[in-house]
Amino acid sequence: MAVTDHVDLATFMAGVSKRNPGQTEFIQAVQEVAQDIYEFMEDKVQYHEAQILRRIAEPDRVISFRVCWEDDNHNIRVQRGWRVQCNNAIGPYKGGIRFHPSVTESVLKFLAFEQTFKNSLTGLPMGGGKGGANFNPKGKSDAEVMRFCQSFMTELYRHIGPDTDVPAGDIGVGGREIGYMFGQYKRIVNRWEGVLTGKGLEYGGSAMRPEATGYGAVYFLRNMLMHKGMDVEGHTAVISGSGNVATHAAEKITQLGGKVLTLSDSGGYIHDPDGLTQEKIDWIKHLKNVKRGRISEYADEFKGATFHEGRPWGVKADLALPCATQNELNADEAKTLVANGVKAVSEGANMPTTLEGVHAFQDAKVMYAPGKAANAGGVAVSGLEMSQNSERVSWNHERLGDMLTDLMQGIHGKCVEYGEKDGHVDYVKGANIAGFKKVADAMLAFGVV
Ligand code: NDP
Repeated sequence: MAVTDHVDLATFMAGVSKRNPGQTEFIQAVQEVAQDIYEFMEDKVQYHEAQILRRIAEPDRVISFRVCWEDDNHNIRVQRGWRVQCNNAIGPYKGGIRFHPSVTESVLKFLAFEQTFKNSLTGLPMGGGKGGANFNPKGKSDAEVMRFCQSFMTELYRHIGPDTDVPAGDIGVGGREIGYMFGQYKRIVNRWEGVLTGKGLEYGGSAMRPEATGYGAVYFLRNMLMHKGMDVEGHTAVISGSGNVATHAAEKITQLGGKVLTLSDSGGYIHDPDGLTQEKIDWIKHLKNVKRGRISEYADEFKGATFHEGRPWGVKADLALPCATQNELNADEAKTLVANGVKAVSEGANMPTTLEGVHAFQDAKVMYAPGKAANAGGVAVSGLEMSQNSERVSWNHERLGDMLTDLMQGIHGKCVEYGEKDGHVDYVKGANIAGFKKVADAMLAFGVV
């Protein structure tokens, strides 16, 4: 009899907690997946015998390293960098790099774990990984960011490669940081190869990559609405964040005839009752990417808009898109959104809703798309960037736009296939099971490795 036949979910989770002391984000992510997978695995003895869930919840490896760099005042600074290579059963490790003071091993393990299922859902051959450092690019000069990125890559380069592990951007890592890291990689190995995605268009980047995550989250949202005979047009939306994902989600909602009322950053949120326009969104992109300013400045620039401390979830709207960071929407805020009549929630960020918040949406039967499904458009287009680099070709914007639309529709379809019951779709369950099954079956094929 297989060992796990005797282990119930609570015992399994107690083991995960014991082996990962203090890693609350990672334990939370495993718990969320395990509760759906346990039910699915009930009559599938082959997964139990091979201890598949236990193996997926143990990263292939966690690499941690020192990153020394010199600031503009000639002080020597020391940061910690990581790369978590979670699972490469279905393709090379793939996942972003995050530079933020809140980065810890637990955060990166949770992100790499989630990434494994997300990448599987895209249908493309990509495993799951994530990396980063507790470095804050905010307030640093370009030269300081460059020195940090070069030092980070001087260690990371030996662990990655186009068929091994292909990192991308994430919070605090945009086009500037990817450029510095790619330049250093190329200089060390003396090869031009597609080792990072999110590159500039001049040097092997893909059209649509900057837009892909935010647009994809809206496409997913639209698929959910259409499944219930509705559309984005005429609906109001609250969005958090004002970075890459949030601004592109706002752009697509606006293009589809919706009205975006809020955006935010770690200082607070702006509320614009007139709704954002493309001109206003372009102004925010410039503020954030070029001037590196704060969202509060929006209220000084645009009449009728106000700035508030805290998070935007108290603003009444039909649609909600958390697009900033993890655990930024708790149970009380979820209940407020429900009380205000929210119809659908699509997560642009990774795990932005706490477990209790997710339950509040599910109890209220609100259409709720978890990040691993809704924000998979970014990594999907990254996968297409890898294909273009391997083939030494560049596809145009229209072709990639169509591919993104199809990919998001495909992911929605998989969630419905595994998550629909009695006319209601549990998108969390659908995404977890569909993402898990492909990885698990590949692992079974390899035997015990
Ligand atoms: P950016 O760095 O471009 O933007 C992040 C935004 O979130 C900023 O507005 C930032 O505000 C805000 N933010 C960050 N931390 C906090 C916090 N603790 N509290 C409140 N606001 C915060 O990142 P992205 O837009 O790329 O990423 C956003 C989310 O989407 C992340 O969860 C990321 O993992 C996820 N994601 C991103 C993908 C991509 O392609 N970029 C792909 C899939 C998921 P401030 O400037 O004040 O820090």
